Amino acid sequence: MVSAKAPEHVVVVGAGIIGLSTAWYLQEQGVKVTVVDRGGVASGSSWGNAGWLTPALTLPLSEPAVLRYGLKAMINPASPLYIPLSADPTLLKFLVGFARNCTSAKWRSAMGVFAELGRTGIDAFDEIAAGTPAVAEETHIADPFLAGFASKEDRDALVKEFHVIRETGGQVDFNLITGDQIRELEPALGVGVAAGIEIRNQRFINPPAFMHSLADTVVARGATIISAFTVFDVRDTGSGVDVIGSEGRLIKADAVVLATGAWLGTLARKFGVKRVVQAGRGYSFTVVPETMPTRPIYFPAQRVACTPLGDRFRVAGMMEFRDADAPLDPRRIKAIVEAASPMFTGINWDERSEEWVGSRPCTADGFPLVGATRSPRVHVAGGHGMWGIALGPLTGKMVAAGLTGQTAPATLRHFNPLR
Ligand SMILES: Cc1cc2nc3c(=O)[nH]c(=O)nc-3n(C[C@H](O)[C@H](O)[C@H](O)COP(=O)(O)OP(=O)(O)OC[C@H]3O[C@@H](n4cnc5c(N)ncnc54)[C@H](O)[C@@H]3O)c2cc1C
Repeated sequence: MVSAKAPEHVVVVGAGIIGLSTAWYLQEQGVKVTVVDRGGVASGSSWGNAGWLTPALTLPLSEPAVLRYGLKAMINPASPLYIPLSADPTLLKFLVGFARNCTSAKWRSAMGVFAELGRTGIDAFDEIAAGTPAVAEETHIADPFLAGFASKEDRDALVKEFHVIRETGGQVDFNLITGDQIRELEPALGVGVAAGIEIRNQRFINPPAFMHSLADTVVARGATIISAFTVFDVRDTGSGVDVIGSEGRLIKADAVVLATGAWLGTLARKFGVKRVVQAGRGYSFTVVPETMPTRPIYFPAQRVACTPLGDRFRVAGMMEFRDADAPLDPRRIKAIVEAASPMFTGINWDERSEEWVGSRPCTADGFPLVGATRSPRVHVAGGHGMWGIALGPLTGKMVAAGLTGQTAPATLRHFNPLR
């Protein structure tokens, strides 16, 4: 559903990658944008993530093995996938839906959708980079992107996934390397790494730097960003929207985009968005290795993701299905340290900074929710789970097209928020 007339003024709720990218693409269509956030720029998941723009790894979580893994995880808080026993009905609804999607057939079909996305996520980053004014912080080419493994057997699992990517229409350019070869590329890797994979044509960003840079750019292009503005309600008035915030504040606009990440359900439900968006909480911290790696390194078996951020090295992991606002649990940080430390040398793991927890906005079928709700003036953009950074600008492009009556990228048909 598209509003009859393109809106002149749109409020975007949420200043993460999705909200900021939506603002940027709306500005391309000449729309005035106000972005509001209950914290500020990147106060959600868009801050402490790994920043990978990796089509080769942008895969659905509902891999059949995750289910077997998940059952074990429920009783082990040190496991990289942790589901605390809880009677939360929303979490149970999500888990039942997620389990239904963890079949081989559904996973392969989801792989096909991600294959269709291909490099369009990166193309949208390039469109933003070519805009005026330019976003000061650039995307970086991982030349090559590396995956490390404690054994060749561990490596087989990712190689199998790469074959499925090719069978389902995707592209991945990779080659296998030895432990010595991977250490030659990245001397910070230790003897715990016995095998590796080089993956070509992938990129990464420094998430905090990129988000602030993108925010500066949308402001330079005329947007207003209002921090400490919690939206409590949104009303469709018949001719526009009322966005109602803390301390009785009200913003009137022609349309609103809800880009509130793991909190999407709260405001979107009354507009017919029934899909649960469950917080899949991840943790990260930074260290300063003696030899700073120059590219991201992935340890799939340990489910640890590492990314160089210039003067420091981010180490991230865990998938904890729990309330988005629950406090950071130090046991998860310890679990990441235990999983990552055997793979490196020259890192003092006690000297950690920037310990962080953030919530991936996860849907049970692994697809985002993008587009108009039951109200043509209320659009949603969220539920990207593990891949909201890689797909952020592309999502902004889809939302802006939907709101202004332009032709949206074809993949949008998979992301109907009313499904
Ligand atoms: C450890 C970890 C590693 C990751 N690594 C990668 C990666 O390498 N590549 C990748 O593509 N993705 C990665 N992700 C996933 C990615 O971070 C998310 O998918 C993405 O950041 C989601 O962006 P968003 O804009 O939807 O949500 P958020 O960034 O969470 O933004 C939502 C915003 O909405 C605001 N908000 C919420 N409710 C309200 C309200 N009522 N009123 C006003 N404001 C509100 C919040 O304050 C927040 O700023 C990772 C995630 C984690 C946790």
